[in-house]
Amino acid sequence: MAKQVVTRTYTASIRNQPQVSDDLDSLGFAASKLWNVGRWVCDRVWSEIGHIPGHNELTTYLKTHERYDDLHSQSSQRVLQELAEAFAGWYGKRHNGDTRANPPGYRKHGDDHPRSTVTFKAAGFKLDTEYERVRLSKGSSLKDYWSDFTLCEYQTRPDVDLSTVESVQQVRAVWTGDEWELHFVCKVEVDVAESPGEKTVGVDLGINNFAALAYEDGHSELYPLNCLKQDDYYFSKRIARCDDSDSELATRLNQKKSARRTHYFHTLSKHIVERCVEEGVGTIVVGDLSGIREDEENGESKNWGKHGNLDLHSWAFDRFTDLLEYKAEMEGITVEQVSERDTSTSCSCCGRKRKANRVERGLYVCDECDTVANADVNGAENIRQKVAPSSSSLSVNRSNGWLAQPSTYLFDSESGCFAPREQATS
Ligand SMILES: [Zn+2]
Repeated sequence: MAKQVVTRTYTASIRNQPQVSDDLDSLGFAASKLWNVGRWVCDRVWSEIGHIPGHNELTTYLKTHERYDDLHSQSSQRVLQELAEAFAGWYGKRHNGDTRANPPGYRKHGDDHPRSTVTFKAAGFKLDTEYERVRLSKGSSLKDYWSDFTLCEYQTRPDVDLSTVESVQQVRAVWTGDEWELHFVCKVEVDVAESPGEKTVGVDLGINNFAALAYEDGHSELYPLNCLKQDDYYFSKRIARCDDSDSELATRLNQKKSARRTHYFHTLSKHIVERCVEEGVGTIVVGDLSGIREDEENGESKNWGKHGNLDLHSWAFDRFTDLLEYKAEMEGITVEQVSERDTSTSCSCCGRKRKANRVERGLYVCDECDTVANADVNGAENIRQKVAPSSSSLSVNRSNGWLAQPSTYLFDSESGCFAPREQATS
């Protein structure tokens, strides 16, 4: 066991909700308005010069805008940063061939503004752990004549004591649909296991195989998504049969569907971390979809989707990566995110990047070295090689055709575990 400082987010309820909810509502609405102004600017800049402004550009455009002063300057900055990240994430997914991904939309709730999350950074909050209170700064245009902050009395879970954490980095005010709650982003010292080894594994996340793993010694594993798809299909059909989508039954089915998805992600991330411990892996390399910017060459068309950023898959990948990171950390395993650029078009054996390289029925075929590999495993191996070069044992394994023959793990919904294909009962 070793001590390590990690980031943890603790949720707290607000004890003086009736006193602060009006203030928090105005801040949440202000964050939505600023987002929409920023979103509109992106549209305008896009039609003028065919480029989406990044976070710094957006801040330059908007810091003199009246909406910018509704929040503390750091909180406003964070809203524009989230918008820029949402655009970058969308580009990344489009770049990776996910045509269902939609660009970030406007924040609307009927004819009204929704209550967006408001983030307060160091200069925007003052924490008093003795009396369990936190002062959240307002922007200059929302200040009342008597006060420029909102004082929230918070209550954390009994096992969480904010006075013992290393530092509190951020406070977020989050609307749950019923009330406001606070999220404290903290640096915390925890006990972690010794790293299981020095080896690396590459992980490619996708929509056919949810995860493909390429280990340093050359073997590979696939985790197909079919069980989750079947599950989703089953529940979607039952929900569609409900007369009223707001009925108790429909709500219950929706909750069950989302609980099962969460269970799948927990189980898969746990399973992968266990496999890494068995294999002596100390570093998991994951493709970071948000790291890819617009591909100049392809010149993305302006075909922006209709429904804002309601994209199940992007949400799922982010959520899964978080879970994996959290579980790996406790086992002393580092998770590194690298750009996925070129990882699906290059040959992981000879590095050849050519349009002529073909993907057929999920196989990647290189016209230079004749490698035939499972396309997702080839991607995972390229991702792995961004952190660690290929080892000598790999070339031996390569000539045996290992890349084309990964082991497949299926989720067995009876036992709730992952098992190699031949053992799975479903
Ligand atoms: Zn090749």
